[in-house]
Amino acid sequence: MSDRKNRPLSPATRLAQALHHVEERTGALTPTIQLSATYARGADYAPRQPYIYRRDSNETTEHAEAIIADLEGAAATLLFASGMSAAGAVLEALPSGAHVVAPGVMYHGVLQQMQKHQTTGRLAITHYTAGDLDAMKAAIRPGQTALIWVETPNNPDWTVTDIAAAAAIAHEAGARLITDCTATPPCCTRALELGADISFHSATKYLNGHSDVTAGALSVRRAGALWDAIADVRKLQGTVLHSFDAWLLIRGMRTLTLRVERQTENALAIARHFEGDPRLEAVLYPGLASHPGHDIARRQTDGMFGGMLSIIVKGGERAAIDTALACRLFYPATSLGGVESLIEHRKTVSGPGFDVHPALLRLSVGIEHAPDLIDDLEQALDAAT
Ligand SMILES: *Cc1c(COP(=O)(O)O)cnc(C)c1O
Repeated sequence: MSDRKNRPLSPATRLAQALHHVEERTGALTPTIQLSATYARGADYAPRQPYIYRRDSNETTEHAEAIIADLEGAAATLLFASGMSAAGAVLEALPSGAHVVAPGVMYHGVLQQMQKHQTTGRLAITHYTAGDLDAMKAAIRPGQTALIWVETPNNPDWTVTDIAAAAAIAHEAGARLITDCTATPPCCTRALELGADISFHSATKYLNGHSDVTAGALSVRRAGALWDAIADVRKLQGTVLHSFDAWLLIRGMRTLTLRVERQTENALAIARHFEGDPRLEAVLYPGLASHPGHDIARRQTDGMFGGMLSIIVKGGERAAIDTALACRLFYPATSLGGVESLIEHRKTVSGPGFDVHPALLRLSVGIEHAPDLIDDLEQALDAAT
């Protein structure tokens, strides 16, 4: 009896109820969207609430932040207008001259930001082969490396990095570890609990899940000087997430667990169906036992591998693009993590200068009926190859 009484609530339960939210005055379960850009002061000219101006923050955005902080087990979470502005704030907050260790293949936009900081001389970047912890270690400059960036699973071949091992390497070098686990949101991977110092997510993707918001989340294990500097960048650049988008994000996050469970089931069904298909060179999905990162991924996601996989089509770039175009259900669109399935020719989207297999198609598997998705890919591959 007492065991049942004291059992902590599952994060999935708290998430579904948006932290058991009830509006004080009306009893409304759905939060009010706080749209006001400015706030009238009280009789003594002091702010009535901690709020003065929406660029600093607002109740709706803070509610969304509290939900993510709870899910991540974070000391604090900050939401930004996009994943890119969140990632940019971290780079901007580093002291001038800091050294950053980052994978050579990673989300192309964040990589471009790093390259920009390197070109201007503000930051020094050394790249390592994604997933290779020895290469990560070798890239460290003792006493100089401030930040190690890990993307896992890594775009677009879903290489898996052991977060706990990467955290040990970072901390031994006196550096911070930041993880981009956008492809496995915190219902799968809780990076801070594995030792990461900052957890980054493009909330545009799984957290929101409906392809109608751009947002970026940063969560911190323990706040400190770097975190304060990041908050300062958001405040000064005015990149706080808009309250309307925060409201949509709250609505989307309530079903996160449900969506990702279904997306994982669907992705696994597709990966198993097409593994070894003579029209394909490879099926890349950490949920397959044949994937080199399978065991670490199983541990890091509790078996919820997520909905992202890639296929490499035989016949090169043309055959891959034709396959994407021949799909009737999968939309030929960029982005990921929505309820609808997308197929993307990654090389076209990331542009020249990125090391991507020319025949790689990235699939973001949605919540549709799996046999419909398999049939669609079957007919597209037949038409194109
Ligand atoms: C989309 C994405 C980003 C960038 O986020 P936006 O919300 O699009 O700005 C960063 N990292 C990964 C892995 C992503 O998929």
